[in-house]
Amino acid sequence: LFISFEGIDGSGKSTQVARLSEYLKTQGHDVVLTREPGGSKGAEEIRALVLQGDPDRWSAETETLLFTAARRDHLERLITPALAAGKIVICDRFADSTRMYQGLSRGDLRGVVDKLHDLMIGVEPDLTILIDMDPVEGLKRAKGRQGAEERFEDFGTSLQEAMREGFLALAKEFGQRFRVINGAQDMDGVAADIRAAVDHALA
Ligand code: C5P
Repeated sequence: LFISFEGIDGSGKSTQVARLSEYLKTQGHDVVLTREPGGSKGAEEIRALVLQGDPDRWSAETETLLFTAARRDHLERLITPALAAGKIVICDRFADSTRMYQGLSRGDLRGVVDKLHDLMIGVEPDLTILIDMDPVEGLKRAKGRQGAEERFEDFGTSLQEAMREGFLALAKEFGQRFRVINGAQDMDGVAADIRAAVDHALA
């Protein structure tokens, strides 16, 4: 079973990914917990190339190519072999993040993202957990953001609002593989909803 997690920054994704992994292990499953961008040695190198340093170093198109290359490496080296061995793979972000971040927030590149995906990736998760979260609440929860300048916060919130709407639209577009989880609950409530969705997928 291949499970991806998606959501805006501050949606509590990383915490919930770790909690689900622990839960599935206690149920006796062999779990591989991984993330994107990154997840394999080469893909982590590409992550650092793109996410560290000058944000204008790469055009949106080049960034899309780099993240597609990273995903291809991650699939070849980690995800595909793990799934073939019968493991449960939990991935913190996958192709839906590229559809949003490179396909939406950096211009109208969704068509390019989809073509590259068909050509080089061709795999979707069996289950995608979208933690839906109000961006203002998410920003409050996001670490280190409390002291941010007002301008930065404003920009962050409007971008995150567009991302939230984009993810919800994606959930409608792909339908059956998505489960939208209400991220406004306390962490135990979110974790319980995620466990229920995963238990259902495993049954
Ligand atoms: O989920 P995580 O906090 O690791 O994501 C780190 C950042 O990488 C996100 O805030 C997002 O801005 C960026 N990102 C991106 N393109 C992707 C995935 C993540 O720009 N495809």
